[in-house]
Amino acid sequence: MKHPQLEPPTLLEARDVSRLYGPDKGCQEIDLALYRGEVLGIVGESGSGKSTLLRLLSGLERPDGGQVIYHAHDATLDLYAIGEARRRALLRMEWGLVHQNPRDGLRLGVSAGANIGERLMALGQRHYGQLRAAGQDWMARVELDAERIDDAPNTFSGGMQQRLQIARTLVTRPQLVFMDEPTGGLDVSVQARLLDMLRTLVRELGLSVILVTHDLAVARLLAHRLVVMRRGRIVEAGLTDQILDDPQHAYSQLLVSSVLTP
Ligand code: ADP
Ligand code: MG
Repeated sequence: MKHPQLEPPTLLEARDVSRLYGPDKGCQEIDLALYRGEVLGIVGESGSGKSTLLRLLSGLERPDGGQVIYHAHDATLDLYAIGEARRRALLRMEWGLVHQNPRDGLRLGVSAGANIGERLMALGQRHYGQLRAAGQDWMARVELDAERIDDAPNTFSGGMQQRLQIARTLVTRPQLVFMDEPTGGLDVSVQARLLDMLRTLVRELGLSVILVTHDLAVARLLAHRLVVMRRGRIVEAGLTDQILDDPQHAYSQLLVSSVLTP
């Protein structure tokens, strides 16, 4: 008999998942697993289907075929067999989503503090003092000036908005976090600092993350394992160092040698 206790428990699985917009456009026959506490990177050039896959995995877009299975603490859920309301509730209460553009993940009409407090309120917290304290604490954690808790996101720079989105997402300690090019829209100088912060937070909180990035430097710093996508399919999967230092598939070799990336 094998030793099941030695196998890391799976948190999320894709089984033969497909969503096609046209030939080679979208995702095809995707099988993958995310284990608790790991960062799984999805890499590939622009148009390879990474964001589509993230939407399928996070309940935002229904696949044409296949299943996405979420192993919650107390139940195993087939993401597209449960109802829309339950799926949305998962995203609001148990999961977190970090968009490339912070403006897609923030509520621009309310203050920084309200942006952070809102997700806690969705979990039932109503105590004003505690919500405000959490807002200040999380602003400090992402190196934002806590004195600006009442300021609107619009008064923040792009890099600050991205850090606010991260605070808003992580304040609830989500079981599972999806990130789509989290450093992609930022200046290179700002990217390095954000990446460092993300790495620290992921480690401190022991987060389970699905990370989409076309930037192999980001993948190298954050991801434990990688899947390489090309034209909607996974062409190679393995440990990050193994894939980046010794890619086996011809496409991964091209990708790593920077032929395909600017
Ligand atoms: P990536 O995130 O790797 O850049 P995407 O998943 O955004 O790739 O897109 C993969 C392919 O699917 C692209 O050719 C894109 O134009 C196409 N695509 C993505 N979303 C849609 C959609 N909603 N309708 C039609 N085509 C789409
Ligand atoms: Mg994308």
